[in-house]
Amino acid sequence: MDRYQSFANSGFGRFVVGRLGLPRPHPLRRHVPGQPPLDGPVLLGGGGRLVEPVRAALGSMGAEVAAEVGTDAGRPAALVFDASGIDSVERLRELHEFFHPVIRSLGPSGRVVVLGAPPASTGSTGSRIAQRALEGFTRSVGKELKRGGTAQLVLVAPGAEDAVESTLRFLLSGRSAYVSGQVIRVGPARVGAPEDWERPLAGKVALVTGAARGIGAAIAEVLGRDGAHVVCLDVPAQGEELSKVANRVGGSSLQLDVTAADAPARLVEHLDLRHGGVDVVVHNAGITRDKTLGRMDAARWDAVVAVNLASQVRVNEALLAADALRPDGRVIGVSSIAGIAGNVGQTNYATTKAGVIGMVDALSAEVAGRATVNAVAPGFIETKMTAAVPLVIREAGRRMNSLSQGGLPVDVAEAIAWFAHPASSGVNGNVVRVCGQSLLGA
Ligand code: NAD
Repeated sequence: MDRYQSFANSGFGRFVVGRLGLPRPHPLRRHVPGQPPLDGPVLLGGGGRLVEPVRAALGSMGAEVAAEVGTDAGRPAALVFDASGIDSVERLRELHEFFHPVIRSLGPSGRVVVLGAPPASTGSTGSRIAQRALEGFTRSVGKELKRGGTAQLVLVAPGAEDAVESTLRFLLSGRSAYVSGQVIRVGPARVGAPEDWERPLAGKVALVTGAARGIGAAIAEVLGRDGAHVVCLDVPAQGEELSKVANRVGGSSLQLDVTAADAPARLVEHLDLRHGGVDVVVHNAGITRDKTLGRMDAARWDAVVAVNLASQVRVNEALLAADALRPDGRVIGVSSIAGIAGNVGQTNYATTKAGVIGMVDALSAEVAGRATVNAVAPGFIETKMTAAVPLVIREAGRRMNSLSQGGLPVDVAEAIAWFAHPASSGVNGNVVRVCGQSLLGA
């Protein structure tokens, strides 16, 4: 908890914050291994093609499914509504009918998940309009929810009804603590349930760049927790910290500057020789060299492009050319909300982070069926990078989102673990913001 958050949740602080109308950031429920994903029943409604597959997935998660509130089951922990069958403007009223009576009874860190169909996949003009309308509804619910609640829209393509479980497990649990207001697309995929949902990456090899600290170290930890052997990569200058992370997660370390001319070749060789290939590649290494454009020398521009974008493209090309990405592989980029909204002093950085989104668009189509390519776009995450931001800007970054607080590195890591999951083969071409529904780039 940051200092303001502790104050706002103390007895006196609650009074002051209430009187002044200031945000009161609620402590978020996060995933604890071994604990159930939800701490109450799920209220399931709607009547499209997804209700039954979703009911089955909820059962597999061990969630209790209720048909109405007010029963002995207690406050709902989640409200899940299948809106995929809504095919006219008139029928949008079903959203109001389901949510209006129950939304205020949702428990703390409650979850709202609306399920729909990709508008372009629907047959009629009415469906297309109604399905697109779900976005405005869900994003607004995310902004209205209090006490750490989140809301998402999941668009499930025809034929992908059985491919939603890993996404539901992520969205309904504390793993998605800092994700809200997102639209996620799930496509058809052959998805076998993992032997052990707690260690879905057992036997897999994952590469994480920039793993010596911050978000990268958290990604290494979470992928290691999920059973992967993690190859932790960082520059030689971070060698000591890198070894500590690698030891902690039971992985190995690789000292390499991703911008070096021979980096892609060395990386492929290392992964092939030591591990016989790689299953999950996480391009996390990133730098900032901020200056407004008129004051930005070419060195700042070039350094940021080299680390944040060019290295990812070169490494991907080398891995694919050498066939080093194993079947059903995962490529995961780390973008930023700056790549969506733009930011003063960050023309170089935002160019690269938008470029990462372009990479997801292009490569996800190219490798569809044999791998997935997705990205996270973090907002304000509490790391050394953001601790160095001047106080006023830092406070604005923390509070200007629906959850009124910064995220933690683990929040970004959990989203990456969901992309990496073997049951997420249908999750391809997504850019999911881990930003507490930041007002920037909304
Ligand atoms: P950080 O500076 O704490 O860590 C970045 C790591 O990348 C460092 O260990 C660094 O040594 C490594 N690295 C830098 N250049 C490298 C190179 N050439 N080769 C290999 N490794 C290299 O940053 P962080 O806050 O943990 O950010 C991680 C990623 O998340 C970055 O891509 C960043 O742009 C992105 N991001 C962060 C935030 C945030 O709020 N912290 C928000 C949006 C996006």
